Amino acid sequence: MAQALEKQSLLDKHVREGAELPVLLMATAHLTGDYSVLRPEWRPTVVYGKLRCEVPPAESENLLSECMRRLEGIAVPAGAPPRPTFDAIHRIATWAVGKEIEPYIPLLAEEMVVGEDPRRPEWSKDEVAPDRPFHVAIIGGGESGIIAAVRLKQAGVPFTLYDKNAELGGTWLENTYPGCRVDINSYVYSYACEPRIWSEYFGQQPDVLEYLQTFAAKHSIYDHAALGSEVKSARWNEESGTWELTVQREGRRESRSHHAVVYAVGQLNRPALPDITGVRNFAGAAFHSAKWNHEADLHGKRVGVIGTGASACQFIPKVAEIAENVSVFARTTTWLLPTPELHDTVPASARWLMANVPTYLQWYRASMLMMQGPGLLDRVTLDPSFPASEIAISEANDGLRAAFQNWMEPQISDRPDLREAVIPNSPVGAKRILRDNGSWIRTLKRANVETVRRGSRRSHRTAWSPQTAGFILWMSSSTGQASRPRTSSRQSRSSDATTGTCTVAGMKIPALTSAGRCPDSRTCS
Ligand SMILES: Cc1cc2nc3c(=O)[nH]c(=O)nc-3n(C[C@H](O)[C@H](O)[C@H](O)COP(=O)(O)OP(=O)(O)OC[C@H]3O[C@@H](n4cnc5c(N)ncnc54)[C@H](O)[C@@H]3O)c2cc1C
Repeated sequence: MAQALEKQSLLDKHVREGAELPVLLMATAHLTGDYSVLRPEWRPTVVYGKLRCEVPPAESENLLSECMRRLEGIAVPAGAPPRPTFDAIHRIATWAVGKEIEPYIPLLAEEMVVGEDPRRPEWSKDEVAPDRPFHVAIIGGGESGIIAAVRLKQAGVPFTLYDKNAELGGTWLENTYPGCRVDINSYVYSYACEPRIWSEYFGQQPDVLEYLQTFAAKHSIYDHAALGSEVKSARWNEESGTWELTVQREGRRESRSHHAVVYAVGQLNRPALPDITGVRNFAGAAFHSAKWNHEADLHGKRVGVIGTGASACQFIPKVAEIAENVSVFARTTTWLLPTPELHDTVPASARWLMANVPTYLQWYRASMLMMQGPGLLDRVTLDPSFPASEIAISEANDGLRAAFQNWMEPQISDRPDLREAVIPNSPVGAKRILRDNGSWIRTLKRANVETVRRGSRRSHRTAWSPQTAGFILWMSSSTGQASRPRTSSRQSRSSDATTGTCTVAGMKIPALTSAGRCPDSRTCS
């Protein structure tokens, strides 16, 4: 009795301190089966991509009491929580989003792993083909390759996972630049079957890497991994019904046969450096953010950054703190989704709720998925009846633009010269939306940071001549896809092709001709 009371008062405390009201309502409705808490007047609104119950304080107290009363005795039950049925998810999600989202319900049902993992294979090789030799190659040990390996393992299908790197982790192994972290909330940017109570809303690179490697180790994926092994080519052999892989490891090439190949090579793991005239003569350190040179000491240096994508937005604020001067070469601008919690830790009370109130964690994840899918899609979809312009494609899209702009304008009220560099002249959603908590514009406003737009190129020609020694030239241009091994059938002429690459529109792709080179020799390597 005393124990139950203690738990109840703990629940009370943490709900009041740390509950996200929409999530609390959803979990309460699901756990109790009492949908009367999903009142129309408590329906959340979308505030900067998140569900928020914007109710007056007195009403908020009422809401909390209603949930607490229903959750009494349920919050810390002995048995496993009930798995939400399709119908329950449908009812709750439709209330939360405020519109019919039936097509998304199967996805949400799979994303909410409560108890049994719905994506675990329901068959095993031993059941379906016990005598048939079947060995799979997975190429790539990032997030995709790891989960593919786990699923094959669960189905009892033998496999080898090849990765060119000496460790698993892919993107999160290779990107070690200062400030590197996810920009999709970690509670969503994690495997549904491996929920974690993250300490930060947007986990930093070491945490994400540790999560992936721990997950791989838990499923003994390292026992099947051929690390430091780059697959150079894959050729289909019609007679044997196998893929013949050429694998390079420690300078030697070996041939391996597999019955199936899973390509999990990613698309952002080979940096494509811009072909800037004279760059080879540049005397300072020059590198891509995906291959951060930790030996380069930036303290007191003049640093040039090319590009203002997601990585640049994360590392420029860090670099600006130590460099003498940072010039940001920005060709285009990107809409920023206001995210005040971007660098915040998750409060202890919120973490307590995730750990102790069954399915609270899953509904938290689901609430964000609802917003990123059905909640956002309408706002970035063209309305043919809307008089489309350069900056909006529908009324809802225009509303989103206005909300973002209203958040940015006050930040530059004292620096109107930055307007062009931070307010995009394109609709929200035309380009990947970045997140910010104010640190980006704060950085651009620093006395030691200058933003160089397309029109101002000429004036910087002298100052940023690549021949000028002592400057550091930084590359943060988008990375390109070059990792996909060459594939061919046995009869194909490309069997004698080399593994060259060429750069097209900033993307590295496998060479286009059977000789392994592009017609334009300048872009081939
Ligand atoms: C800095 C950064 C931040 C990001 N943040 C987010 C985010 O917040 N949210 C989001 O949704 N996405 C984000 N992304 C995108 C991210 O790449 C994907 O989310 C995801 O990590 C991709 O996983 P993957 O396994 O498909 O590919 P990768 O992680 O790229 O893994 C591919 C693996 O294949 C290996 N490989 C490639 N070719 C070969 C070969 N021929 N032989 C052997 N091995 C090979 C590589 O070594 C690598 O380990 C980010 C990307 C970057 C670069």
